[in-house]
Amino acid sequence: MKKLYVKTWGCQMNVYDSERMADVVAPLGYAAAEDAVDADLVIFNTCHIREKATEKLFSELGRMRLHQKAKAARGERMLLAVAGCVAQAEGEEIRRRAPYIDMVFGPQTYHRLPEMIAKINRGAGAVLDVEFPPEPKFDALPEARKTGVSAFLSVQEGCDKFCTFCVVPYTRGAEYSRPVAAIVAEAERLVQNGAREITLLGQNVNAFHGEGLDGKAWNLGRLFYRLAEIPGLKRLRYTTSHPRDMDDELIAAHRDVPQLMPFLHLPVQSGSDALLQAMNRKHSADDYRRIIEKLRAARPDIALSSDFIVGFPGETDHDFAATIKLVREVGYAQAFSFKYSRRPGTPGAIMPNQIEDGIKNARLGELQKLLREQQEDFNRRMIGCTLSVLFENEGSEPCMLFGRSPYMQAVRVPAPTRLVGEEMAVQIEKAGFNNLSGSLIMANAA
Ligand code: SF4
Repeated sequence: MKKLYVKTWGCQMNVYDSERMADVVAPLGYAAAEDAVDADLVIFNTCHIREKATEKLFSELGRMRLHQKAKAARGERMLLAVAGCVAQAEGEEIRRRAPYIDMVFGPQTYHRLPEMIAKINRGAGAVLDVEFPPEPKFDALPEARKTGVSAFLSVQEGCDKFCTFCVVPYTRGAEYSRPVAAIVAEAERLVQNGAREITLLGQNVNAFHGEGLDGKAWNLGRLFYRLAEIPGLKRLRYTTSHPRDMDDELIAAHRDVPQLMPFLHLPVQSGSDALLQAMNRKHSADDYRRIIEKLRAARPDIALSSDFIVGFPGETDHDFAATIKLVREVGYAQAFSFKYSRRPGTPGAIMPNQIEDGIKNARLGELQKLLREQQEDFNRRMIGCTLSVLFENEGSEPCMLFGRSPYMQAVRVPAPTRLVGEEMAVQIEKAGFNNLSGSLIMANAA
């Protein structure tokens, strides 16, 4: 058996892709290894969103090169591969700076890994494969081999929206939606293999418009109604959404489909219309407020999450105050907030009026303080409530299980291992910033 080590940076799409890469090479005899040092194939699945992603990659590669050389001295081979969005955006540069890399491939071509490995084994040289191929990658992927209680299912990839801060349209390509029949079949297999919760993934997941079972395009809302018919599937979630694609059918699904959990990550990025325009978001802060109102009318207990960027070029104190105002009005259960950082090749990187770091830090500090208070408050309000918790696995402490509430909160409960995969009623007793704890109060809440 050969050893495979995959290191993943970035979003859930990348986590999903890494698992599928392992599935793709499993028939070649590769099994997952805990450690890269002695692996036969090492894949770095990269993310381009964070600052200095390329430099961090090169420092990891430098370390791995030493292990590759040590293996070579023993007459063994370590194949090194760089995948993901940095590979897609900077493939040539990676090959130039690290010629010892065997394979560089983007998010759209990892289904070709067996061919790439065969080519290297034939001595045909290193492989650079960063095309956007005409054949959909999903058609060529094997079935997933292992499934947890909570599984990811990629339904959509790519983006045509070109927000001015984002590299996704350049690294993941144009928006593509999988056919509904393929999604339903994959969801049924996941449930047969033990999944009780499925999170639908896509860079712009609610732009989904895959071919439906009637041959017409279905939107995401309609897809949820169909997936909810799968016996044994208790929970459905989706991420990441764009406000522009929150259509009425999707909002109605939050009202009508009990399996669709009352939690939504809906990034707004800024509360200022001037900034939203500069970011090319194509919606206003009031459009976003109206969507939140509709969602709360459809599902009053829905918990909200968002992404925020502070210090986008041109952001004034007035713009930032509009973001704080929006956060106060909406009230978030959790959120992610970042300082703007330039992404080469995006319009934002060459905009005038870049904001100096000191201002960005001060604004980020103020925003994160408010978001933290909201998250703590949201969690504290759960104390004394009974929540339905889906147990995903054993916790780090003995005799404790880890699960999630409908609102995505991590919950720790003393409970027997046999309850992994079950949805149980839990009385919440304590709440911290990042998790809740409590005790079982009845046999089965499902
Ligand atoms: S919609 Fe999302 S993925 Fe698309 S460009 Fe904007 S931030 Fe990037």
